[in-house]
Amino acid sequence: MGNYNTVTEYIKSLYGTQDFIPLHVPKFRGKEKDYLAQCIDTTFVSSVGKFVDQFEEQMAQISKTKKAVAVVNCTAGIQVALRLAGVKPGDEVLTQALTFVATANAIIYNQAHPVFLDVDLDTMGLSPKAVAAFLEENGELRADGCYNKKTGRKISACLPMHTFGFPVHLEELISVCNTWHIPIVEDAAESLGSTYKGKPTGSFGALGVFSFNGNKIVTSGGGGAIVSNAVALAERGKYLTTTAKQPHPYEYFHDELGYNFRMPNVNAALACAQLEQLDAFLAEKRSIAQAYADFFKTQGIKFRTELPDTKANYWLMCVELENKQEREAFLKYTNSENVMTRPIWQLMFRLPMYKDFQRDSQKNAIFLEERIVNIPSSVK
Ligand SMILES: *Cc1c(COP(=O)(O)O)cnc(C)c1O
Repeated sequence: MGNYNTVTEYIKSLYGTQDFIPLHVPKFRGKEKDYLAQCIDTTFVSSVGKFVDQFEEQMAQISKTKKAVAVVNCTAGIQVALRLAGVKPGDEVLTQALTFVATANAIIYNQAHPVFLDVDLDTMGLSPKAVAAFLEENGELRADGCYNKKTGRKISACLPMHTFGFPVHLEELISVCNTWHIPIVEDAAESLGSTYKGKPTGSFGALGVFSFNGNKIVTSGGGGAIVSNAVALAERGKYLTTTAKQPHPYEYFHDELGYNFRMPNVNAALACAQLEQLDAFLAEKRSIAQAYADFFKTQGIKFRTELPDTKANYWLMCVELENKQEREAFLKYTNSENVMTRPIWQLMFRLPMYKDFQRDSQKNAIFLEERIVNIPSSVK
């Protein structure tokens, strides 16, 4: 088994410390305190305020979409985005088993059924080939959309996730989903700042959703954003996430069941200050990724880099070990040396609540599950 002392020594020298090195921590070196003080001084700390509006404008601009909606977190954002895309109770949603649990949970919150399909080895995200193969075997196009012949249920959305900020093969996925009349909702929680053929992730699907949780590339403390080029859909998203209230100078009239999924102004203030630094964070992460790539080459360890035609945001960087035993040895040694590393997620169907849903072979997902490990990725 490999000796990983040179790895921990390198990471300690890269971060210039012998202390504990976390996987990812936020950096506040912009106008965070100024904007937060403005919230307190004006008393606008809660569900409305100028930072919420400013955040939505910034996010539409950054994601190159027509409209963004600030929400309380990305999980709630995906839940609503799926509903906006047309997912109804009893429907099915195609997604990957190699993801953070929130992706699958957001499907269940709509009382829909996830179908777990394989990922590509190169992107670690939902495989257009796996989706095509599944639909060729199970799909049936009817006047109102695509149905699963095995279950009789409507397949009303496809929910790819851009793992660690590496974009999935979007062009191929869009082509397959168009053929089968299935709208795409992008779980872009991890990929703010990533692009595919020059366009931001999150802007390709009917809707895209970003996370601003404390461990993401920029943070609002907690928060999310739904983005879309379909203005009417996004406006309906704003309405549903703000209790479905009809505009009126003083009456409370809610004409359907909405949600309180608003992002508070204090969180938006933090997000606005952080988004101003996004380009600087992206540049620093690229230089850390380059340093890692050069170093791991000398160690015979595969460091994951972006694919041609894409730019990754290098949110969480990762290495691919030889096999599960090496993965265990790497995790054990690095963590014992105060260098935080974590394995990629356990596949969704290993979790008790997701064990019985339809899935394909998961060949690539299992390969990656046994080998991928995240390493410290914070900006310095
Ligand atoms: C972080 C994350 C989420 C959830 O984000 P929250 O804002 O914490 O709800 C969803 N999906 C993926 C893939 C994530 O990494």
